[in-house]
Amino acid sequence: MKRALLVTLMLALIVSFFAFDLQRFLTLEALKQSQHDFAALNAQSPWQIGGIFFAVYVVVTALSLPGAAIMTLAAGALFGLAEGLLLVSFASSIGATLAFLASRFVFRDSVQRRFGDRLKAVNEGVEKDGALYLFTLRLVPVFPFFLINLLMGLTPMRTGTFYWVSQVGMLAGTLVFVNAGTQLGQLQNLSGIISPGLIFSFALLGIFPLIAKKFISWIQARRVYAKWEKPAKFDRNLIVIGGGAAGLVSSYIAAAVKAKVTLIETHKMGGDCLNYGCVPSKALIKSARLAQQIRQGEHYGLNMQSPDFSFRKVMARVNEVIRTVAPHDSVERYTSLGVEVLQGYARITDPWTVEIKLNDGTTQTLTTRSIVIATGARPFVPPLPGLDDVGYVTSDTLWEKFSEMDVPPARLVVLGGGPIGCELSQSFARLGSKVMQIEMAPRIMIREDVEVSELARASLVADGVEVLTDHKAVRCEKEGERKFIVVEHDGQSQRIEFDTLLCAVGRSARLKGFGLEELGIPVQRTVTTNEYLETLYPNIYAAGDVAGPYQFTHTAAHQGWYVAVNALFGDFKRFKADYSVIPWATFIDPEVARVGLNEQEAREQGIGHEVTRYGIDDLDRAIADGAAHGFVKVLTVPGKDKILGATIVGEHAGDLLAEFVLAMKHGLGLNKILGTIHIYPTLAEANKYAAGEWKRAHAPQKVLAWLERYHAWKRS
Ligand SMILES: Cc1cc2nc3c(=O)[nH]c(=O)nc-3n(C[C@H](O)[C@H](O)[C@H](O)COP(=O)(O)OP(=O)(O)OC[C@H]3O[C@@H](n4cnc5c(N)ncnc54)[C@H](O)[C@@H]3O)c2cc1C
Repeated sequence: MKRALLVTLMLALIVSFFAFDLQRFLTLEALKQSQHDFAALNAQSPWQIGGIFFAVYVVVTALSLPGAAIMTLAAGALFGLAEGLLLVSFASSIGATLAFLASRFVFRDSVQRRFGDRLKAVNEGVEKDGALYLFTLRLVPVFPFFLINLLMGLTPMRTGTFYWVSQVGMLAGTLVFVNAGTQLGQLQNLSGIISPGLIFSFALLGIFPLIAKKFISWIQARRVYAKWEKPAKFDRNLIVIGGGAAGLVSSYIAAAVKAKVTLIETHKMGGDCLNYGCVPSKALIKSARLAQQIRQGEHYGLNMQSPDFSFRKVMARVNEVIRTVAPHDSVERYTSLGVEVLQGYARITDPWTVEIKLNDGTTQTLTTRSIVIATGARPFVPPLPGLDDVGYVTSDTLWEKFSEMDVPPARLVVLGGGPIGCELSQSFARLGSKVMQIEMAPRIMIREDVEVSELARASLVADGVEVLTDHKAVRCEKEGERKFIVVEHDGQSQRIEFDTLLCAVGRSARLKGFGLEELGIPVQRTVTTNEYLETLYPNIYAAGDVAGPYQFTHTAAHQGWYVAVNALFGDFKRFKADYSVIPWATFIDPEVARVGLNEQEAREQGIGHEVTRYGIDDLDRAIADGAAHGFVKVLTVPGKDKILGATIVGEHAGDLLAEFVLAMKHGLGLNKILGTIHIYPTLAEANKYAAGEWKRAHAPQKVLAWLERYHAWKRS
């Protein structure tokens, strides 16, 4: 209501301005003609004339009417340089701030709702460096004054900041105009005031804050390094600590561009993914899935069977898969690629020096221009009383421990309802364990939409997993050889007996013991970095699980590229890590894969969106495969085919998602997916059908009505 009133009032004033042609008073000619009359009036009643001039100036700028430049000249002509400058400087800043507030009040919410995701970078930039940007824009009179007021109103900039930066930033321009006004008699036109030479000087002044910023960061960097003695020359261009995905990619890139690079790994090359994470878990998932398919033989017209298998052999296969993949990440391979690989424990002793306790017991010290920290993460073990007494396994230890067992644990408690907990719960249930999965949150896979969590839960339950959500583990107890975990739910305690407890409640970055504390490198849950992945010391970078914000192999590898390129070529050009299109999958059955926004995130972030859904139960190939379940859900910009995010639940969802990842990365919309031939019958057709659903919902009804009439006419 208030908004409508304000808009009406402003529109009425603007319309009157043009309807009564008030603009005719705000031309150079009109000003020259009436200069003497005004001067006489001003001499009679200086306060009133000054006050009226001030008020009119405020109104003209607040309503973004044309004429502010002429009024600034008039101020010089009428009041002289000092008084004119004073009046205009305050009137223009107040008027600009009113225009800024009006734009904010009327448009900001709807603009942010509609374009929130696209404005994210702008919003963040304004929050961080908004004053600097505004100052530059005010100083360099390249963009129209009123446009800056209105656009800034749409950003999160604080009103006070807008006001004072405007006032200071516009001072130089105001001075030039007011001064020109004092020479009104000689002025022929407005363009004479702002000559190309003057614009160039302003431009120099405008970029001064940016140069100053660079200078300040250079000074800050020098301060950070002040207490360390920089080596005169370096043994290496780059030293990378950690041989997981992030470390492997960054050292490989460095070697590929002929830098002298050393990779240091204390334990197993390939890091978590190869040895304890993605690779063993996916190998286990495959065996478990096959066991389940054998049980489900009847669905495919085969005789009902129970899978007959040796758990020891299943685990042996898991280890064999690791051994087969290992050469990809091996010392030999990376050495052949030009990386020097040292096996030992690295510690950063100063910003350019790394000390390595080699596995053969000797110590080596190397100096380097840049360092990449890629030390990964380890399973987080919650501080549960009694946990150490009952014993537990984590993703780090379960592979070795279970490899020694002939049968899987009879009663397995899995603590954690995230992706790792879900994948392992389902697999061990399928391999014969009685699995109880305990999750504190109200649902499993909490980052996904509710319907995804529900589908995941239903599939785990169907495989025999007992899923306890909203259950908080409070302690563990041991009675003789019997082990229990106590959980609380709705104020009630429950004791659950188990044989093995698997902790899968998250993974914490490896931050201690290799020099971060001594160098004072700030950490929170991960190493603190800027958008270039630089730590406090601009020559020390972090990538992968230790840097966050994601904990995936492909994001670690993605960051690996940025740190290598920024470390080696940052003097010429630095790249900000781009997280705009990050996909991931949880490899339960059916798989859950996502890229970009889901519905809950779009709602939380206030991003306008439309949802298109295609049920995979309708897909020919899925029906033929006995996999007719799940869905493709796509979020698009309202009224447009631009993809904001996609979630796929179904067989091979992780593979199917690649089409949406490509589309989002390269700005292709649903029309393009619809216009692409997909092989029949494949699961990938689900993507095309989802695009088809979107098209149907956006069919041009009016055109179709006309077409119907046209065809009727052709028949008549
Ligand atoms: C069970 C499980 C399943 C997973 N499944 C998937 C999946 O399907 N897809 C996916 O994308 N991600 C998955 N992940 C996550 C993935 O494994 C990690 O995100 C990835 O390994 C991170 O790579 P990184 O290079 O950051 O760290 P890491 O792989 O942890 O490598 C860090 C290395 O640094 C070494 N190191 C540490 N400190 C030092 C030091 N001071 N000196 C020398 N060396 C040091 C460590 O020994 C380690 O080898 C899974 C994880 C787990 C646990």
